[in-house]
Amino acid sequence: MKDSASLIDIQELSYRYGRDAAAFLALKNISLQIKQGEFVAITGASGSGKSTLMNLLGTLATSQEGVFAVSGENTANLEPDALASLRNRTIGFVFQQFHLLPRLTILENVMLPLNYMQPRPTATVRAEYQKRAMELLGRLGIQDQALKLPTSLSGGQKQRAAIARALLLNPAVLLADEPTGALDSHSSTEVMKIFAQLHAEGRTVILITHDPEVTRVAKRRIELKDGVIVGDFEQPGIPLDTDAAPKPSTPDVPRPGWFSQWQSLAPLRQAWQALVSSKLRSALTCLGLIIGVTSITTMLTLGTAAQDVILKIFDRVGADRIYIGLDYQASRTNTNGYWQGVHVDQDLPSLQATFADYGRVSMLWGDFNQNAVVGGVSTEVKLDSLGSLHDFVDQGLKITKGRMIAPHEFDKAGAVALVGSDFAESMFPKHYAGRYTNPEFPLGEIISLRGRLQTAVTIVGVLGKRDTTFSEKDINARIFVPLSLLMHYTTDKRSTWISVVPKPGVSHRWLADSVVHYLRLKTAMKYPFRAEVPEEFIGQIMLFITIFQALTTLIGGLCILVGGIGIMNIMLVTIAERIKEIGLRKALGATGRDIVWQFLVECMLLCVVSGVVGTVIGAVFCNVVALVGHAALPEVIPRQLLLNPLGLILGLGTAVVCGMTFGMMPALRASKLDPSEALRSE
Ligand code: ADP
Ligand code: MG
Repeated sequence: MKDSASLIDIQELSYRYGRDAAAFLALKNISLQIKQGEFVAITGASGSGKSTLMNLLGTLATSQEGVFAVSGENTANLEPDALASLRNRTIGFVFQQFHLLPRLTILENVMLPLNYMQPRPTATVRAEYQKRAMELLGRLGIQDQALKLPTSLSGGQKQRAAIARALLLNPAVLLADEPTGALDSHSSTEVMKIFAQLHAEGRTVILITHDPEVTRVAKRRIELKDGVIVGDFEQPGIPLDTDAAPKPSTPDVPRPGWFSQWQSLAPLRQAWQALVSSKLRSALTCLGLIIGVTSITTMLTLGTAAQDVILKIFDRVGADRIYIGLDYQASRTNTNGYWQGVHVDQDLPSLQATFADYGRVSMLWGDFNQNAVVGGVSTEVKLDSLGSLHDFVDQGLKITKGRMIAPHEFDKAGAVALVGSDFAESMFPKHYAGRYTNPEFPLGEIISLRGRLQTAVTIVGVLGKRDTTFSEKDINARIFVPLSLLMHYTTDKRSTWISVVPKPGVSHRWLADSVVHYLRLKTAMKYPFRAEVPEEFIGQIMLFITIFQALTTLIGGLCILVGGIGIMNIMLVTIAERIKEIGLRKALGATGRDIVWQFLVECMLLCVVSGVVGTVIGAVFCNVVALVGHAALPEVIPRQLLLNPLGLILGLGTAVVCGMTFGMMPALRASKLDPSEALRSE
């Protein structure tokens, strides 16, 4: 009975479950030809090998024993991908349990085979197939269910949807395993009428059933028993009243434009549906990743912002300079006693000349135990001096009221003073309550100094509040007079503190060492000197913050790693739950790569969503911190913080890499599932 026109040609085919001695021979040496346009029923008792034969016919399983050819092509010669493509083009499956995917609408379920068509359909092709899907649904009488989910359909309606899906790509063979097994008798008859009608239109239909009623409709009956064909008969095929089958009606097709576009993003869209359909689980799964991404973006952003703020503060306090003085600690045991200091009149000019190319040298000279009589009350004040406008600028001072000391007052010992903001606030209100309403107050007030300086000075300016560091904690409580005024009234014109402002590009440490060396030579190596280099201190703080950032990034990375393992775990659970879905997709022609891609996209989506959520939380957190900080230190801390780009890239990047890495194993496992086993599983 061998016929070259056979659509399906099976020669001496056997199939065994298992490999070793315990292997079970489910099909024994079967030979069978099925021609184009036949209507065949394969029957037999339960366990006779019907489903096994169906899996072989559907290329869901392959046997190495015997020949199985479809349209003259031996399936043993085909690679798995070619087999998947053959399945996609040639075979339409209808299962007893329908196998509609619960999260997709009926129309989407019917369109599912399109996802695995080769070559991938264009949007136009998709739109055409969508029209065809609606026509099929219309023909089967369920077009009004197209946009509903499978759960809202009756068994008969679900099976019609499944038939529509099987017919979408116009396959050569319709392969149905117990298609009426889960239906009541009325729906069962309806479904059988559909098969009869499809046969009447010239389609090849292979039904597998143990229901004699169903068997009678077919034109040929093949009987299986214990894996052997025991009967193969032609039969008239009880004609069914095909007019009673649902009539074709004009389907109401949704606009194809956006829908087919969205359809072509099927894996992404289905991944999104999977994610939102179990929100709590997704949220818990993503938690580790979210925390990791948040901590990386936050810590890198805040760390860098802190560095900026610290630099700004140092800038404002005039930290861009070096302080040099006697090392009191070391000189305690010095037999030469205390150093008397640099003579401001005679030594300062030569010191300035020596280092003129590298920086500007000035003296810190004042009297911190000075008495001031203000409004008849004597108070202790800290007197400081300014050699020039440069000193003023270098110390980061600013005038908020009144004026600067004028050049001629700097040169000619002007009896004027600038007062610090704390001094202005704490000295005057107590004694000058009545005059405080004057907006110009305390400008023009007189301070009588009693100490190293024995003179009266007029307040010409009030200084703004300045951030403080090092030994200058009281800078806002000082009063500043011209250095020349202090010199004029002082007999001992020496100072033990020198400040040097290096020129740009000059190493602070080198200049500090050079000045110390100069002083040691100048004092015949008798005294120990000490240099304070704030730049080095800043460098240490910056290094500390950088190390801190690196550590927190590492911890964030660990969080992401743990989160990734969580995601891998949940993906494995998901795959176990959706084993039938995987089987179905393979039956519809999905290749291993399609399945890997689908689960990888789901995993990536989880990771990308986590990454975005983590980044948003990080951005919100950083900006809350910035707002609070801004309220406390408005001049140095910005109101808004932009996320550190490195943090953004690292956070999102590791999340995505993590998704790829940890999604790969579950996805590969899913792709390797045996479709016939997957569909059989309960
Ligand atoms: P039917 O569909 O006619 O009920 P099946 O094709 O499912 O029969 O099974 C045929 C025989 O193969 C049965 O005896 C069954 O126990 C056995 N069988 C089916 N699947 C497996 C399997 N995965 N491993 C071992 N034996 C199997
Ligand atoms: Mg079976």
